[in-house]
Amino acid sequence: MKVKLSIFLFFLSKLIFSQSQIDQKKYDSIMKYWLELAKKYEVWDPEPKKIEPGIYGSPPSDAIVLFDGNGFLNWHHSVTNEPVKWYLNDDKSMTVNEGSGSIETKLEHGSIQLHVEWKIPEKVKGEGQLRGNSGIYLQRRYEVQVLDSYNNRTYSNGQAASIYKQSMPLVNASRAPGEWQSYDIIFNEPSYDNNGNQIQAGTITIFHNGILVQNNFKIKGTTSFIGMHETSKDAFPLDGVKGGAHRSLLIQDHEGGGVSYRNIWMRKI
Ligand code: MG
Repeated sequence: MKVKLSIFLFFLSKLIFSQSQIDQKKYDSIMKYWLELAKKYEVWDPEPKKIEPGIYGSPPSDAIVLFDGNGFLNWHHSVTNEPVKWYLNDDKSMTVNEGSGSIETKLEHGSIQLHVEWKIPEKVKGEGQLRGNSGIYLQRRYEVQVLDSYNNRTYSNGQAASIYKQSMPLVNASRAPGEWQSYDIIFNEPSYDNNGNQIQAGTITIFHNGILVQNNFKIKGTTSFIGMHETSKDAFPLDGVKGGAHRSLLIQDHEGGGVSYRNIWMRKI
């Protein structure tokens, strides 16, 4: 009986062993097939260009530095094109010289990633829209609001990190007056047909102090204090202010401002 059992176990183990060999072969061939198939879905060319990232908001190696504290070389008055009369500070920032006019980059831009740091004056004065008001106008057309919204209620689509009169921020990520804050903005410009009519809306995404506050917002049109947003290619807002139909980055001089800026750079996308 014992002999019979031993023989049975011997043949059983042979069977299992050979079966596992077959399974391994099957497995290998299936794996080979899958790996070959997977390769068809790998993209190797082109390879993304290698850049050196910045540290804590400093510009990466492929950025266009617009303001680093060393002067206003890349900027001029937004209406007269004259030299900037804002204050240049020792800490590599600049401060709006209220009443001297908005400033804009000499450079025009299309779709960009933009980094801007800004600060509301520590000494609080004014209320609502008259407390730390400034703004970043993308292509001179769309205002990302700069305002003291730390403890200063105003209309939601006009507070800090709103697309002014178009889209309120998802949350209020404001820091206190006197503290530096940041905007990281992704702007995709609208596209137009040959007659200058918009065929696809532009979009804006904003991180305020690292927090997502505008999520791929479809721009309704140019910024307007009152009335409709315009969408045609040559429509420019800044009611009554002539500056030409060029697509510069503009920083607003607004009553009750006093806002400071530093470390401004963009990357073309
Ligand atoms: Mg403003």
